[in-house]
Amino acid sequence: MTVTDHTTLAERVIAADSRHVAHNYSPLPVVAAAAEGAWITDVDGRRYLDCLAAYSAVNFGHRHPRIIAAAHAQLEAVTLVSRAFHSDRLAPFCQALAELCGKDMVLPMNTGAEAVESGIKVARKWGTDIKGVPAGAGNIVVAHNNFHGRTTTIISFSDDDTARRGFGPYTPGFRAVPFGDVDALAAAVDDHTVAVLLEPIQGEAGIIVPPDDYLPRVRRICTERGVLLIADEIQSGLARTGRTFACDHWGVVPDVYLLGKALGGGVVPVSAVVADRDVLGVLHPGEHGSTFGGNPLAAAVGITVIDLLRTGDFQSRAAELGSHLHMRLQGLRGRGVHAVRGKGLWAGVDVDPALGTGKQISAALAERGVLVKDTHGSTLRFAPPLVISVDEIDWAMERFVEVLVISTS
Ligand SMILES: *Cc1c(COP(=O)(O)O)cnc(C)c1O
Repeated sequence: MTVTDHTTLAERVIAADSRHVAHNYSPLPVVAAAAEGAWITDVDGRRYLDCLAAYSAVNFGHRHPRIIAAAHAQLEAVTLVSRAFHSDRLAPFCQALAELCGKDMVLPMNTGAEAVESGIKVARKWGTDIKGVPAGAGNIVVAHNNFHGRTTTIISFSDDDTARRGFGPYTPGFRAVPFGDVDALAAAVDDHTVAVLLEPIQGEAGIIVPPDDYLPRVRRICTERGVLLIADEIQSGLARTGRTFACDHWGVVPDVYLLGKALGGGVVPVSAVVADRDVLGVLHPGEHGSTFGGNPLAAAVGITVIDLLRTGDFQSRAAELGSHLHMRLQGLRGRGVHAVRGKGLWAGVDVDPALGTGKQISAALAERGVLVKDTHGSTLRFAPPLVISVDEIDWAMERFVEVLVISTS
């Protein structure tokens, strides 16, 4: 292809992407060059309202001043020593995060998938060392339509064919039951079950909120049967739903929290497994590790994130603006929208499939300056940074109405 004068910078970047970047994503044609708060500016100077927030990794907005200041200060001090030595940032980070979760200890990792992998390892080790399950016999109960990441073990218990096909052999030791079905879950638990691993609200499945009695009853089953309840709050946690954790909506306290995404403040990958000493204490030196896990830069960012969460301001903001967002979206039911689900500033919107795929609707919205992402099929996800304003939500909703009307006609 020859590059002509009327080619935009964005088009040139996109052409280079398709040559040199592995094709494991199919991004919308938006090329970010800068961002602040809820807004992204592309290489040609076009502005977009971000209603995805990097899948909730940017809950506090792009380049939150306090997070950026903490990162800058840490860049001037020390950024990485590995866990071969201590750093003066790690304990303050782990203490603050443990307190936020009401737990004793933190295992710091980097990406969400690593937190899930680490949670699985901890649960299996707890099963053999504490519960007395024969080595190699432990099983973990998971939910259908789960999304927990992309490693070989994690895709082994996914039922998304695209995520799995061709990547076997798969890791054994998992049994999947329908999400929201307590009886099926109770029936799947046996004497060798070491953990139940769930997203309290399923994100990639389309922001699926379980029945109100589900998580409390799952909690009871886990307690009665001596099984760890592991909540993957990587996308649902840290204020997104209007509470610190999605589990808080039902007064449920899991044995293990898996956190990631927003924990890195939109700056660096930071993830963690958080639990009490009787669980995380099963790990001894050499049994698990990560070169970058808990590095000083990540810890400094994490400390600031937890500080921002301590006031409860982001949680209330997500709750208040979330009811506004949900009210506006519910108003579109029957006008191209079939269903709206979610909590706080997190909404899964089923668009009439006759109007187009989620991908097509997302592309039409991007052309009008609003960035959302389909989860699959004709379901869109709205998950703006929690710093978005009511007026900006209304502006995005007007653009959404335009797209629905144009698609209808
Ligand atoms: C994104 C996500 C993960 C994986 O996180 P990565 O940082 O992409 O590895 C795991 N669980 C849930 C619920 C997620 O949304």
